[in-house]
Amino acid sequence: MTKMDEIFGCKVFNDTIMRERLPKDIYKKVMMTKMEGKPLTKEVADVVANVMKDWALEKGVTHFTHWFQPMTGITAEKHDSFIAPAGNDKVIMEFSGKELIKGEPDASSFPSGGLRSTFEARGYTAWDPTSNAFIKDGILCIPTIFCSYTGEALDKKTPLMRSMETINTQALRILRLLGHDEVTRVTTSVGAEQEYFLIDRKMAAKRKDIAFAGRTLFGAAPPKGQELEDHYFGVIRPRVVAYMKELDEELWKLGILAKTKHNEAAPAQHELAPIYATTNIATDHNQLTMEIMKKVAERHGMKCLLHEKPFEGVNGSGKHNNWSLSTDTGINLLNPGKNPEQNIVFITFLCAVIKAVDEYQDLLRVSVATAGNDHRLGANEAPPAIISIFLGDDITEMLEAVENDSTYFIKKKSTMDIGVEALPNFTKDTTDRNRTSPFAFTGNKFEFRMPGSSLSVSGPNFILNTAVAEVLKEFADELEGKEDFDQVLHRLLQRTIKEHKRIIFNGNNYSDEWLIEAEKRGLLNLKSAPDALPTFVDEKNIRLFTEHGIFTRQEMYSRLEILLENYCKVLNIEALTMLEMARQDIAPAVVAYLNEISSEVAGKKAVFAGACCAYEEAMIEKLSRLLGDMYVVTEKLDEDLTQAHAIGDRTECAKFYRDVVFAGMNSLREIVDSMEVYTAKEYWPMPTYSDLLFSI
Ligand code: ADP
Ligand code: MG
Repeated sequence: MTKMDEIFGCKVFNDTIMRERLPKDIYKKVMMTKMEGKPLTKEVADVVANVMKDWALEKGVTHFTHWFQPMTGITAEKHDSFIAPAGNDKVIMEFSGKELIKGEPDASSFPSGGLRSTFEARGYTAWDPTSNAFIKDGILCIPTIFCSYTGEALDKKTPLMRSMETINTQALRILRLLGHDEVTRVTTSVGAEQEYFLIDRKMAAKRKDIAFAGRTLFGAAPPKGQELEDHYFGVIRPRVVAYMKELDEELWKLGILAKTKHNEAAPAQHELAPIYATTNIATDHNQLTMEIMKKVAERHGMKCLLHEKPFEGVNGSGKHNNWSLSTDTGINLLNPGKNPEQNIVFITFLCAVIKAVDEYQDLLRVSVATAGNDHRLGANEAPPAIISIFLGDDITEMLEAVENDSTYFIKKKSTMDIGVEALPNFTKDTTDRNRTSPFAFTGNKFEFRMPGSSLSVSGPNFILNTAVAEVLKEFADELEGKEDFDQVLHRLLQRTIKEHKRIIFNGNNYSDEWLIEAEKRGLLNLKSAPDALPTFVDEKNIRLFTEHGIFTRQEMYSRLEILLENYCKVLNIEALTMLEMARQDIAPAVVAYLNEISSEVAGKKAVFAGACCAYEEAMIEKLSRLLGDMYVVTEKLDEDLTQAHAIGDRTECAKFYRDVVFAGMNSLREIVDSMEVYTAKEYWPMPTYSDLLFSI
């Protein structure tokens, strides 16, 4: 056995373990549940629970938890031990099928958006057998969904699992029509590339903003930023190498296929990409990855920042959501193959994605709308807030040919002569290398680049799955039972391309011309979260989710409520943190420095006559003026917060935070950053951008 065989998946109750340890018939039933979503009986669950417990006990585990993903954005757990009294002062270790299948955590402290009144605070968690149980921090974790007692979804896993069912159903209808009777299941897969920052832990601990907000709220620009472009793919520092090695190993133990790692564009920024997996598993794995990233960083004396914009003036962090559809027979439905123009499966599914993205631009935008991501989208580093699709010239031309009934000649792909004899000429990649597109076709999958680094990928994926399922449904409704099937399909595809090609854009998404062009095409440009979020409950979107059984109308309103509330809360915490730092740390520091210069001036003046203190006096004047400005701005910010708290309507409240509170925060920051520039380093009460960004 190699070391990797020992490590990989050693903390996971996976298929191999189940095959080894479960009775054959039970194993088969569990697999049916995993593959086809067939429900499990209590008898089967009892056997599985017992075997799972024995496996965990062998590994020294004494507790279990239902592991779930409430609307807070992080994962939640409540630990119970296996212990049960056995009489005579003895205990036995027990774990029943009932405990495996269902838990009843107190749901009252998780956001429900008004779905649940406190007197019916109980929620329940239910085992998701499609995602393997695993051991984390000595606890057996059982992936579960989380619902209210009356069955409303209170988490991020439930809608995702529902969306996987609906896209399976609709995709199978299309595949039947196209003659693929052998396929019995279609799943979506996701590879989530994760960006993050690493900074020194001791330095981070000295900043309240990092502690409370996960990002810096003050900080003058350092002399050196990312302008030399010397970090991207650069040599990784030894401390970071050690971190990445341990991180990989921890992830491998959990069966997470961490694959690539490299430095990113900004100083102290890095990326980790896993090998893709089924959407549900990929989502669980990404949540775990974020958690493990933070934990391992602590062990290495570092802090891992997952915020979308930890530092102003430096690239923020995103999470690229690579998405595709594949069959249980191993076909990737988005793989164009050698002759895409003859690949009717590919063309049909491609057209479905194009139509879905065009019709549900608003929802895709909603899926990435958070206070943190607002700092990124539209800035010159991340995709703009306008949704469009990059297809590349080849595929675009192919679609034009379908639309216009012209023959498509696969152009001999231009080859790049790289000038070194020994290397073969390789085909020039026609996929999106300029990386400005928010939704790019990259060979055999789409890469959605708008999600922020801290986001759960559940949102983007249940929306994408459901939107595409809806279009596949419309296609199937139109095609089923038609005698002249080929003709009807042909016309359907032509019409789809004609009506939705406005969403295709292969150019530079960062250019000003695109803004104008996109507006001409009638594409949405929902610039901030408060603009985007309310579209979630537009009638067409409510229809989409209710018809596909993803949400009830009430669940949608409650989700919107939670999202808007979260936006307001984040800004509120940030503003309060800034006020505290400004008043309690920064003002006293500047006053102390002013004192020193003033006594210095007094001392000098006692000796010299005349203008001996030009610098000091200028500093006294400048810093005193800034202190005065700071007083005015902080008082105003305080009043604005009081006003914000009085606004009843959530959308209005969010807009007030964006337009008034956030503006006040920016004014305060500007003043404080100027103070930092003029204050002696030894007086400045916290590490600076130079300290933080170049601390590792
Ligand atoms: P890049 O940095 O060019 O965007 P990476 O190689 O870093 O590309 O990441 C590509 C991601 O896409 C990986 O996580 C990979 O596993 C994933 N991926 C590859 N094929 C598929 C697919 N068919 N479906 C979903 N994800 C995929
Ligand atoms: Mg990428």
